[in-house]
Amino acid sequence: MFPKRVTAKFCSALFLCLGSGLEAQIPQTHKTENVIVVMLDGMRWEEVFHGADAALIKTLGPAGLGAAKERAALAEQRYWRESDEERRKALMPFLWSVVASQGELFGNRDLGSDSHVTNGLNFSYPGYSETLTGIADPRVSSNDNTPNPNVTVFEWLNAKPEFAGKVAAFGAWEVFDGIFNKQRCGFVVNASYEPLTSIPPTPELALVNQLKAETVRIWPDEAFDPMPFHTAIEYLKEKKPRLLFLGLGETDDWAHAGSYAEYLNAAHLGDEYLKELWELVQSMPEYKDKTTLIVLPDHGRGLGAQWTSHGKKIPESRETWMAFLGPDTPALGERKQAGPVTESQIAATIAALLGEDYRADYPQAGAPIVDVLNR
Ligand SMILES: [Zn+2]
Repeated sequence: MFPKRVTAKFCSALFLCLGSGLEAQIPQTHKTENVIVVMLDGMRWEEVFHGADAALIKTLGPAGLGAAKERAALAEQRYWRESDEERRKALMPFLWSVVASQGELFGNRDLGSDSHVTNGLNFSYPGYSETLTGIADPRVSSNDNTPNPNVTVFEWLNAKPEFAGKVAAFGAWEVFDGIFNKQRCGFVVNASYEPLTSIPPTPELALVNQLKAETVRIWPDEAFDPMPFHTAIEYLKEKKPRLLFLGLGETDDWAHAGSYAEYLNAAHLGDEYLKELWELVQSMPEYKDKTTLIVLPDHGRGLGAQWTSHGKKIPESRETWMAFLGPDTPALGERKQAGPVTESQIAATIAALLGEDYRADYPQAGAPIVDVLNR
């Protein structure tokens, strides 16, 4: 890695860096008043930019899941198309219509756009922590549900009067309690099967809480994605947070299980949730035209037969992607010859979108991604 702080000074002196995606002057004005971050656990850039993989679409998932042939056939019918453009749009229609035309997408390495994690471990807790704190801390080296020694940008913002009580995080995986440091952070963190009881129970929330208690649990530490999504939606409508996190997990779970069909279904549902979330906030005066949506995974995955896995021994699993949509992000669409951008830049980017300088307190954090701040 190049020395970022030196580069920043050098660039602003020469007025050379605007549009580089790396470092430049952070604009003083911004229209964003709210930020929503959605993370799709272990969602590969390969499917995001190319759609379903020809070599994997016909593979049958684990026999134990049942109906393996029918699942694969249905996935093929739903997501297989002849061209990359058609396939990716069939898989993630919101990303490839609204975000591609009004926002930015980084990470298509075939077009020279690099996005990656810097933690060297390529698994979840280090990936989320790097993304949310801006720092790849070597102490963060396991997926154990232990309190994060670092402060996330969510906790940092919640400590400011204008954001206090206006920050919340929802996730499928119970380890988000640790990643956000639920005991210390001072805002709502609701993960996995935990019912949300801190706001008045709407009929919808009561039903979600009931389903969390009654639905079959395939993974003991991770609920199906509809649980955190609908919990977050009810919270958003009631409390109108300025900074909201939603962590979806099924893409990673089904990939580890070896079910390509369900991995694609989870990606498709995640995209549908982005659409629902975006349409909801654009219908609310508190959010309309002043909310930025950021979407990314916590790590990538392997290639070929290694698509199910990720980690230090699978170098490709450091490769990620990022999508941005909002009033400060220029409509540059799918980026070519851009970046590199890293997950460690997200924390400072979130803060910059909200007019705050995260690196004033955490200078070792990655720099804001200027390309999404300069409309
Ligand atoms: Zn995983």
